[in-house]
Amino acid sequence: MEYTYPDYYNKFSCIAGKCEDTCCAGWGIYIDDQSMEKYKKYQGKLKNRLHNCIDKKEKSFEQIKGRCAFLNEENLCDLYAEAGPKMLCKTCRRYPRHVEEFENLREISLSLSCPEAARMIVNNTRKVVYKTKERESREEEYEEFDLFLFTKLLEIRDFLITTLQRRELSLELRMSLILACCHDLQNRIDERKLFAIDDLLCRYETERFLKKAETKFEEYEGSTYEAVETLHKIFRNMYRMEVLNDLWPSYLKECEKTVFALSEQEYIEKKKEFHKAYPEYELQYEQILIYYIFGYFTGAVYDKRAYDKVRFALVNVLLLHTLALADFINKGEFTKERQIEIVHRYARELEHSDPNLEELEVLIGYEEEYKLEPLLCCIWT
Ligand code: SF4
Repeated sequence: MEYTYPDYYNKFSCIAGKCEDTCCAGWGIYIDDQSMEKYKKYQGKLKNRLHNCIDKKEKSFEQIKGRCAFLNEENLCDLYAEAGPKMLCKTCRRYPRHVEEFENLREISLSLSCPEAARMIVNNTRKVVYKTKERESREEEYEEFDLFLFTKLLEIRDFLITTLQRRELSLELRMSLILACCHDLQNRIDERKLFAIDDLLCRYETERFLKKAETKFEEYEGSTYEAVETLHKIFRNMYRMEVLNDLWPSYLKECEKTVFALSEQEYIEKKKEFHKAYPEYELQYEQILIYYIFGYFTGAVYDKRAYDKVRFALVNVLLLHTLALADFINKGEFTKERQIEIVHRYARELEHSDPNLEELEVLIGYEEEYKLEPLLCCIWT
């Protein structure tokens, strides 16, 4: 079995009681079958609590006011404190490690929804590198796993990450290149012309193509009306999502009021001011884009929707940028700490809810505002 993970992965360490948030509140914690068996047989001090605080039908820990029943006032886990790490279920043992499963390959990342992981990702100024390790285990054979498509997706993902790391190019250009490239290659996937993908990637790598593409993309710079309208629609679509933290909708409303009450001219000016005051944004969104591309892109082997995965990454960054802009306008400044706070709260709402991920997938697949041109307007305005 091969394991792929980012180079910062092994540096992660949970800060437990010092954490400004907790991973044990705000969503149901699924208990795997093995842990369920372990809890049934447990005879220690917490026997009765374990019996009473597990929802056996849902296979999850009971929640008290949105917090796991085992989470104490210091935000520490009583189960861990009393019975040790072996008593944790798989979800708690792994979090914030997220594992994507493919035939004979596991891809591991750290979830942005954990503030400490978000801090590592946002603070990382180096170009992230992905490492691979191999471990002896039984060969897997997934039914209907399209190995050829998967190999191509891995090649494309390398190209996307390399493009995003071309820091000599503006972030707008990097984002547009990966968007346009995946728009073009989706046809090749749909028509099963997978060999034609190599030519497309080679074309995108030439300087001549780059110059031509840049000139074309820059035409979107003047589309302020379309851009703000599109961005507003994309923003409002967030209200359709399941709410995990009760404060989230009012926070969104406040940000919406701040950003979308501006005239087009004011919007452009505030955005420019923000970028000038906080130039780190380019580096940080590069890391976040790569986080989403690494974590979600190869999932296209199961649904063949590679273009949607890239749009998903871009839309998340456009929304994060809008939330950051609102913060900047309201406070007159923006800091790395605020960026980390926004990124982790956003990831919590989105990535810890399957219905939310599915909703966004449907929106991206079917709604006009997620098409190529409207997204290019948002990127370049
Ligand atoms: S959210 Fe992250 S840092 Fe905080 S307690 Fe959970 S794993 Fe630890």
